Amino acid sequence: MKVGFISLGCPKNQLDTEVMLHEVLDAGYEITPDETEADVVIVNTCAFIESAKKEAIDNILDVAWLKKNRGLKAIIVTGCLAERYGEEIFKELPEVDAVLGVGSIHHIVEAIQAVTAKKKGSRAKYFSHDDRDAVALGGDRVLTTPDFAAYLKIAEGCDNRCTYCAIPAIRGKFRSRPMEELVAEAKQLESLGVRELTLIAQDITRYGMDLYGAYSLAALIRRITAETAIPWIRLLYCYPDKITDDLVAELRDNPRLLKYIDLPLQHISDPILRRMNRRGDSTVIRDVLAKLRREVPGIVIRTTFIVGFPGETEADFSALCAFIKEQKFDHAGAFAYSREENTTAYDFPDQIDEQVKQDRLDVLMRLQTEINESLNREKIGAVIDVLCEDYDPVAEVHYGRSTADAPEIDGKVYFKAPSRVAPGTFVRVKVQEVVDYDLYGVVV
Ligand code: SF4
Repeated sequence: MKVGFISLGCPKNQLDTEVMLHEVLDAGYEITPDETEADVVIVNTCAFIESAKKEAIDNILDVAWLKKNRGLKAIIVTGCLAERYGEEIFKELPEVDAVLGVGSIHHIVEAIQAVTAKKKGSRAKYFSHDDRDAVALGGDRVLTTPDFAAYLKIAEGCDNRCTYCAIPAIRGKFRSRPMEELVAEAKQLESLGVRELTLIAQDITRYGMDLYGAYSLAALIRRITAETAIPWIRLLYCYPDKITDDLVAELRDNPRLLKYIDLPLQHISDPILRRMNRRGDSTVIRDVLAKLRREVPGIVIRTTFIVGFPGETEADFSALCAFIKEQKFDHAGAFAYSREENTTAYDFPDQIDEQVKQDRLDVLMRLQTEINESLNREKIGAVIDVLCEDYDPVAEVHYGRSTADAPEIDGKVYFKAPSRVAPGTFVRVKVQEVVDYDLYGVVV
């Protein structure tokens, strides 16, 4: 029996896919990368915003076509969409045979057995919606990332209550994984060849507060650094008001912790930040940025903004653009506010017209592209460390990432080398050219 996986959304969801892959393989099923050959397809979904929900439904409809027209026997939907709209999925998408909420990922084998054992013509469905706050975190997994780079999910859920965000309702309360377990997993990943470890969670800066009564991210990084030799450790998803002095010192002094931080800020206008229920106002944000730049020279800062939040005036948006020009973030993403059911902001007055949101998003992203190009041009002539990802035989060029580029979200470095460089090897590259977000150069 062949099982196919479609994994959507963020790296946190990707890790759940990796755990399910391991359980499915362990049960003796064969995994196929080609859904047209599969007997069962598992769609692990995201439901953070409207576009993510649409992508999930489009994928389910694609595999529903395979079920109707090819040999596909069953479709299982897991992940955030399944948690949020479990009953509706069965009602609206009759082709779906099983729905597993985020607390039920460890029932994946049971679900496959149930949906493939059912009699032909039967309408029996498998539905599991276990308590997401009680599900065991971690577990063996099959890496879906290249051998040399992996994510480490250090916590699950979120206790922040940003008014636009459905994640706490989907993923449950914040739960850290014990430090010993994480260090053991980091060691295991190292033994598999991992050279870049990216720490993730909905909010990694809260790590340890529930287990140890103190913000413990810096302590965790120290333990991973002491007990492994992984050369690159990277931080994604930090919350600005929880950047402790200990963490700043670690970023400054630990040579294997990359001088890179992802700090989603969402906005800079105080009335908007208050309505978003973000902790920390514009002063806190400016102070933390100033401190990071002062204490950690050369730090690369990635952030994310939301435009078109209810009540966002032209003045609020202009303040955001001025802030972006002033701060010159190395990387900034943005999305138009998505009005999500069962979030506080859903009922806010002064919802912004969709076209206005889109126009603001375009303006902001154009601005950031110009900043990126200008920052990248400053790198021409510099020699940078690059982790080689692979070789493109068509373009006849290697590609990889520098310390300034996180996997999948930031730019790439394309480079020529006198001989073939193996994926996972570190090289020094002299930058010669810039095209959009990417750098081009030659190994020195
Ligand atoms: S910190 Fe805010 S935006 Fe991030 S997951 Fe938690 S509630 Fe959502």
